[in-house]
Parts: sequence; C-alpha cells; structure tokens
Amino acid sequence: MTDTTTTPISSSPASHILEPKHHHFMKQALRLASHALHTNEVPVACVFVHSPTNSIVSYGMNSTNDSLSGVKHAEFRGIEEILSKTCSLPEFQTGGGKQPIEIFKEIELYVTVEPCVMCASALRQIGIKRVYFGCGNERFGGNGSVLKINDDPQVKDLFTGYVSYPGIYRKCAILLLREFYTRENGKAPEPRQKKNRVLKLDEFPEIKWKDYLTEEEFLRFYGLTNRESFQNNTDIIVPQADENEEADLFDTLMADPVQDISDIIEVSSQPLCLANKKQKLQL
Ligand SMILES: [Zn+2]
Repeated sequence: MTDTTTTPISSSPASHILEPKHHHFMKQALRLASHALHTNEVPVACVFVHSPTNSIVSYGMNSTNDSLSGVKHAEFRGIEEILSKTCSLPEFQTGGGKQPIEIFKEIELYVTVEPCVMCASALRQIGIKRVYFGCGNERFGGNGSVLKINDDPQVKDLFTGYVSYPGIYRKCAILLLREFYTRENGKAPEPRQKKNRVLKLDEFPEIKWKDYLTEEEFLRFYGLTNRESFQNNTDIIVPQADENEEADLFDTLMADPVQDISDIIEVSSQPLCLANKKQKLQL
C-alpha cells in the first residue's frame, strides 16, 4: 500500500507529522477517551474528520461496558453517525448527491488505539481515506500489530485498502489504558507528581514501525529526520514539542474528571457540509 503522492521522498515536505492538525485532532480523540475512562469504559475514542474542510463530522467512544455489547467499539459509532447524516441529506433522499462511498474517501480517522481486526475490516469496507492512531493494539490490532487487514492484498473487496500512521501521542494513549486497567484491578492509583515528571522511554514498549508501514511510507509522512526512529523502533521526534508534552497532556486530562466534551458533540452534530472550504483550526 503506498500513499497517493508521487513526489520523491527527498522533495516531500519536511515532515507531515509536524502539521499541527494531526496533533489537534488526536488531542480531541484523547479528550473523548478520557471521558470514556471516567464513565468506566475502556479509554479508546476517535474523531472522523472530513479532510477537505478540516471538520470533525463524527466521533466515537468505546461503550462496551455500558451496552454490554462487545462490538460497540468507538469506530462503529462514528461510522454509523456519518451514514445517518448522509442519509439525511436532502440531495441523497432525492436520489442525487454523494453516496457514502464517495464521502468516506474524503474522511480520515484519528483514533487513540490501533483499530481492532473487526474495525479495521469495517473501515476498509467503507473505503476510509486514511487512519491515524496513537498506540498499537497488541492483542487485537488489525492495522499491523496482529493482522494487517488495512492493506492485505489477499483481502478481496471494492477497495485496495488504506494506509495508517501510528505514534501520534502514543504514550498518552498508553497511559490512559494503564490508568483504566489499574482501576479495573482495584489497585489504588499511584500518586502522580505533576511537575518535573519525566517519561522514561523504557517505561513504554517499543513501536515496531515495520509492522505498520514500509520504510518509504514512513519517510514520506514522518520525514527523513526520523529515519533512525524507524530503524530503532523508537518514537518519532517532533522538534517543537516539549519532551514532557505527553505527560502534561495526560495530567491535564486526569485533572478534569468529567472532561467536558460538549464542544466536540456540538461540532459533530452539524449536518454534513461537504463544500470544499477548509476550516481554520483553533490550534
Ligand atoms: Zn474495534
């Protein structure tokens, strides 16, 4: 699976990961995951973004505990909302306008944890444009950790698959999961020192980039400056980011127990507006 760009890697932009929008949208997904955590759900959440307009068109949080249904994963809620909105468009009801298949090819997913095999397959079947995720899903991952449904050539369907980029706020996504499982196990959470806390690299599993991407795909997105990360299975380096940014973000999320997500709900409740006018993000 290769990205659509045909420009040589050496003349690609320095690094797409430096685009603030990727961090912005993953932060929204992490806020939702934190909200899920505080409602006793596994903290996995996502936002679906219409890429031509930079707008969040739906979101999802795990609700497997509340619903007692093992298939109520974050991605499914988001997909269903987009389908529902599409069917509500006046032009769709009169037999015109874009079909879901055309809409999903303009939509990107930001999800805190790698989609499981079930969700990875669903995302492929709807023809999602691209996926960005935080940490890998070692037990059930469908984008490379266990199976690579997203671009397995043996899977025969309408689409050739999609590329997915891991590692965006990976440590924060892991910390949220650890917080959940610590609570699940009934252990008292360890006190966190907010200031001067340093995340030691060895506290986190390595990220095996080759499980998810070819080297060419990696370099096109993360830039040549991160080549060593690909080879050494280490997190990418984002030059302008503070080294404690992820710890601080986690502390911020934990400091607000209910995590007001009304802004995300409001923006994603708007009808689909597919005019190609990019929104200016408040980053
Ligand atoms: Zn899933």
